[in-house]
Amino acid sequence: MTGREQLNRRKRWLGGAVLAGVVLLVTGLAVVPALGGAAAAAAVVPGLLGLMAAALAGQWFALRCPWCRTNLGKFLMQAGFLRIDPRVRYCPYCGADFDDDPDAGRWDDPVE
Ligand SMILES: [Zn+2]
Repeated sequence: MTGREQLNRRKRWLGGAVLAGVVLLVTGLAVVPALGGAAAAAAVVPGLLGLMAAALAGQWFALRCPWCRTNLGKFLMQAGFLRIDPRVRYCPYCGADFDDDPDAGRWDDPVE
């Protein structure tokens, strides 16, 4: 499995969690007139918390370079919803190619 595939898999999980949060949030807000605030809060609060948790996890720790383990969240969360932007080919910190397999062998660290 390439580094890109690993990052895309994590990004799909995060995107799915964000989407589920948005659906719960919108559904909760849509039922406020019909069911009242308490029933709507049962959907709005978990939706908002799920949305925020997924977004913050993506920014802070869920998207790390498979080679150097540097946090790429702020970089990779900006473009592409369920996958990383295909134009992004290399880690900006270590220069590893995302289309290489991180488990294929020793990575040649350019810093060493
Ligand atoms: Zn890296």
